[in-house]
Amino acid sequence: MKFKLEYIWLDGYEPIPNLRSKTKIADFDTEPTLEALPLWNFDGSSTRQADGSNSDCFLQPVALFPDPARNHACLVMCEVLLPDGTPHPSNSRAAIVDDPDAWFGFEQEYFLYRDGWPLGFPKEGFPAPQGEYYTGVGFKNVGDVARQIVDEHIDLCIEAGIAIEGVNAEVAKGQWEFQIFGKGAKQAADELWIARYLMLRLCEQYGVDLNFHPKPLGAEVDWNGSGLHTNFSTKHMREVGGEDYFAALMSAFSDARDEHIACYGPENDLRLTGLHETAAIDEFTYGIADRGASIRIPHSFVNSGHRGYLEDRRPNSMADPYRITGRILQTVESVTAQALIEDAFAA
Ligand code: ADP
Ligand code: MN
Ligand code: MN
Ligand code: MN
Repeated sequence: MKFKLEYIWLDGYEPIPNLRSKTKIADFDTEPTLEALPLWNFDGSSTRQADGSNSDCFLQPVALFPDPARNHACLVMCEVLLPDGTPHPSNSRAAIVDDPDAWFGFEQEYFLYRDGWPLGFPKEGFPAPQGEYYTGVGFKNVGDVARQIVDEHIDLCIEAGIAIEGVNAEVAKGQWEFQIFGKGAKQAADELWIARYLMLRLCEQYGVDLNFHPKPLGAEVDWNGSGLHTNFSTKHMREVGGEDYFAALMSAFSDARDEHIACYGPENDLRLTGLHETAAIDEFTYGIADRGASIRIPHSFVNSGHRGYLEDRRPNSMADPYRITGRILQTVESVTAQALIEDAFAA
């Protein structure tokens, strides 16, 4: 039987890659498995990944999802390799540490745009100020097609086997959020990229674009930016935790503030101002249920003896989730390793 395999990858644009994809038709007797999918190639000179004189790059399938919008079809997340089989410099997925017991929950905020302006905005000027849009209902708050798009996207994600956990209308008009949960840094980030892909492709038929910019309306106006709050927990955080470990964790996050910000998306200085439920970019703060902190500690975390997950509120909507999860894991694992050594000496 003929299958349509949509090979999806990240291009070489800086500072943030775009999603690219092309379809391969291949014969399989039954639904293909990841292992059965062949390497493929593409013209890297058209994606800022190679020179025209030596343009071939390779696509290595790394994650497979059923394609809910097409018959006999799959979505194939790929890593980009150089002709010698090593990771391409743009391949952020290959560069990170991973831990299958690390769990991540992304809150992807974004704006729906039409003709270069947020959906529901008047042609000139601004709609009513922020206030009633967040989780709002009614035409004046959410317009006429946004909810249909958002709902269809939920079904696409569910049918593709992606753990979408919820959606809500956000603080600005035309701004929405969906939440994706995943286990393992790479797998969680794969699923977020595929969820973005499904949303982008869905919106084509509505004449609507997604705007992932962290502050699309600029820093001067009183309109929220978009984040990618990243909730995270490792097995140690969930099962051992404790107040001392938590203090060590926050101190490590504070020390590595700049390294984290470097992975949390470009132009974040426009968004992390200390206003609009953000912490200032040059500070590191944490607090219980504090939406103005860099890291928000859920009540459940404290109530469980400093065990559970934390929310890093700094990553922005256009950030690459491979880099975010990789950086968070690097910091957390360094603290866990130190705690285990200290426990061993104390025993
Ligand atoms: P907010 O109150 O910040 O808007 P949301 O409900 O939008 O919170 O998002 C919370 C996120 O936390 C979800 O994406 C969920 O998957 C994630 N989450 C819940 N428990 C864990 C956990 N143990 N480890 C990592 N992420 C988690
Ligand atoms: Mn949320
Ligand atoms: Mn939100
Ligand atoms: Mn949040």
